[in-house]
Amino acid sequence: MAESNSKFDVIVFGAGPAGLAAALKLSEAGKKVAIFDKDNQIGGISKTIGYKGFLFDLGPHRFYTKSDEVNRLWKEILADDFLPVNRLTRIYYKNKFFFYPLKPANAFFGLGFFGSLHIIASYIWIRLFPYKEEKNYEQWVTNRFGKKLYRTFFKTYNEKLWGIPCTEMEASWVAQRIKGLSMTSAVKNALFPSKSGGVKTLIDQFHYPKYGSGMMYEKIAEKAKNNGADIFLETEVTKINSHENKIRSITVKNKNGEETEFFADHFLSSIPLTHLVKRVSPSADSETLSATEKLKFRSTIMVNLIYNSKNPFPDNWIYVHSAEAKTGRIGSPKNMSPFTSPDENQTPLSLEYWCNENDGTWKMSDEELLKQGIQDLDVLNLAKKKDFIDGFVVRIPKTYPVQDGTEIKNIEIIRNYLDKIENLQPIGRYGMFKYNNMDHSILTGLYAAENILGKTHDIWEVNADEEYQEEKKR
Ligand SMILES: Cc1cc2nc3c(=O)[nH]c(=O)nc-3n(C[C@H](O)[C@H](O)[C@H](O)COP(=O)(O)OP(=O)(O)OC[C@H]3O[C@@H](n4cnc5c(N)ncnc54)[C@H](O)[C@@H]3O)c2cc1C
Repeated sequence: MAESNSKFDVIVFGAGPAGLAAALKLSEAGKKVAIFDKDNQIGGISKTIGYKGFLFDLGPHRFYTKSDEVNRLWKEILADDFLPVNRLTRIYYKNKFFFYPLKPANAFFGLGFFGSLHIIASYIWIRLFPYKEEKNYEQWVTNRFGKKLYRTFFKTYNEKLWGIPCTEMEASWVAQRIKGLSMTSAVKNALFPSKSGGVKTLIDQFHYPKYGSGMMYEKIAEKAKNNGADIFLETEVTKINSHENKIRSITVKNKNGEETEFFADHFLSSIPLTHLVKRVSPSADSETLSATEKLKFRSTIMVNLIYNSKNPFPDNWIYVHSAEAKTGRIGSPKNMSPFTSPDENQTPLSLEYWCNENDGTWKMSDEELLKQGIQDLDVLNLAKKKDFIDGFVVRIPKTYPVQDGTEIKNIEIIRNYLDKIENLQPIGRYGMFKYNNMDHSILTGLYAAENILGKTHDIWEVNADEEYQEEKKR
């Protein structure tokens, strides 16, 4: 194994939003930084893939944040190429579209007279005879919305996303994700959108880079490089060499299988937390290793399709609740930025399929998956088989950290172990096993960088407020 001559102030694992934001901040402060990423492209899960002139994100990535710091960074990086986009996202259920975030009037009328009566009756019923215990997702949501709304807007989508029946999902899971949302608050918000006080405004505009979400991170990487940062792609961090509670060096393997050892004073890791712990040498204690085994992730397959059609629907993306299609979400890059398609008469569409790594769906061949995608769009009447031109498949492991409550004590064990290593900070989404969007991932990177520069942020506090993602309390 070769030993690198250069020693860095900071080594960052992963060139996604978190790692790049950290590298930018550190390089601006004059630190000598290196980033290693096993992928051949910048951006992590937020990268954009080019295919025959069309641009596809790994699932549509809207840029929205409540953090002034992240907003400033995004705007400074892209300036006029950061396009404002009006949000139109709907739920597709049984041949009908419903606005998301939900608008009660649309939900009631969309379900028809009898459907609406059914909603009211089932809501009154559950208020009179609620589940005494709220042990699972179904009971928690039904107690707040009634059975009919639960079945229409919560059950199928969540079962597709998480791959288990809602009756097997802990109530704490949903309580954390949609805390504060109730029938009363939803109706109040619809009738008095800006004056309801308790409920945060629903977001109807966001930003998006002209050439896809990856453009933002390519530009951040370029800026960090101009400041002197080194970025090594197709180079995997395989071993993290520690000595007396400090990391001394890392071993990386390039695409030719050659191994090199690199040294630094500080290390930031945005690679999956489970991978980080398993790569430390000498090996972590058995309790920590066993805690990493218990953390679960859901994975995603993107089926990206191109159609000979001007624009089959106006939505940025559509949530597919209908059980007759297997996809859970259909994104339309063109409705995020028209610059993602080279031909205005053709349309790229991206379909998400959620699964577990190595299950039946994960192992389907690309041909089978393309067929499934074409079939789903046809069944939903969103795009016709005959208009299909071309497509490709991307498998993305570990896209959703499963936060069902069981992970809390395992994360604590892992944190106790990592806290003892003085010069290593985990950052980002998988790096911290948190359901972080780009902004929170970036904030963890920025705060970790500031810690190296002398501040004392508790990075684990980022995104710990359990707020409903779409809302902000005034
Ligand atoms: C389908 C989907 C849709 C999303 N939509 C939105 C959205 O609309 N808005 C939003 O704000 N956020 C969205 N997100 C979240 C966003 O993608 C993430 O928050 C963000 O990409 C996380 O950044 P990160 O740097 O922490 O990790 P990542 O982006 O995962 O980057 C980690 C990097 O580490 C690299 N790596 C892994 N192992 C190793 C190793 N051993 N050695 C070297 N490198 C390694 C990977 O190749 C990767 O490049 C979405 C996520 C998904 C899955």
